[in-house]
Amino acid sequence: MADFPNVTSPRELMQLFEEYGLQPHKRLGQNFLIDANIVRKIVDALEVEAGDLVFEIGPGAGALTTELAKSGAQLVAIELDRGLCGLLGNLFEKWPNVKLINKDVLKLNWGSLFAEFCKDGQTVKLVSNLPYVISGPFVYAILKSSFPFQRAIIMLQKEVARRLVTAPGESDYGALSVLCQYYTDGEVLFNVSKNVFWPRPGVSSAVLKLKPGERLLGVEEETVLWDLVQGAFQQRRKTLLNNMNRIYPSLKNKLPEILEEAAIKEQARPEDLSSGQFAMLARITYNYLK
Ligand code: SAM
Repeated sequence: MADFPNVTSPRELMQLFEEYGLQPHKRLGQNFLIDANIVRKIVDALEVEAGDLVFEIGPGAGALTTELAKSGAQLVAIELDRGLCGLLGNLFEKWPNVKLINKDVLKLNWGSLFAEFCKDGQTVKLVSNLPYVISGPFVYAILKSSFPFQRAIIMLQKEVARRLVTAPGESDYGALSVLCQYYTDGEVLFNVSKNVFWPRPGVSSAVLKLKPGERLLGVEEETVLWDLVQGAFQQRRKTLLNNMNRIYPSLKNKLPEILEEAAIKEQARPEDLSSGQFAMLARITYNYLK
């Protein structure tokens, strides 16, 4: 691989783009990593081992992909941009452990991806320098699939990363925070300057580590959790009681009893509840709905 390009070198990256007639697209959140040190830190945080199955979202020109491929892991890289897929296809032509999928990750079904690529007992990890334009929907999608990874390292807009791990009562605590904290244990590892990307983005980034959390509910109870959390935060300044009146009109007369059973005050607002309290409330509500 002596002539493999160094895509974290701005000069070599721009040369490659010119050669393939490519331009960075803002609408696809294309800001490419041009700092080998940050690439190393992300790959190290993934703790990747030979034999792991790693899904990479948005490989771009291959900055992370190149380091991951060297680890001996089986890599499935999902990239929407057809031009970049052409470039990656050539770069990784001789790497049997790299599989490219030219699709929109938001339209993929994680169940089918696992059925196709995951061998029994294999450790599955997720890594991405996530395009900012899809960060919310993407995080919802992996949570909705019950976060089927042993570890995920995701670079996100700094404010979004913070929102996912923030505590109840904070102004940025919302539905995404509750659901993320129900399915995962999250930690912001480090911040990343705008200067390590080409082109330079308008926002700062942070790298987040997610590991599976302890899921307290059964699958049907989790459906109630989603309805409850997403419904409650539609009107976050209203009390939980008022919100639940709107979400579950059939339980109107039972709601004070439900809240009491969950040890939640009637005046509590959605932003006051931890993910554990929401889970408890979902379980009790489920029992009343049955
Ligand atoms: N991983 C590369 C890096 O770190 O230099 C590129 C990261 S860039 C921030 C995001 C990448 O995600 C781009 O290559 C972009 O084309 C791709 N992308 C954007 N939307 C996507 C989607 N819906 N599905 C899959 N890939 C997408």
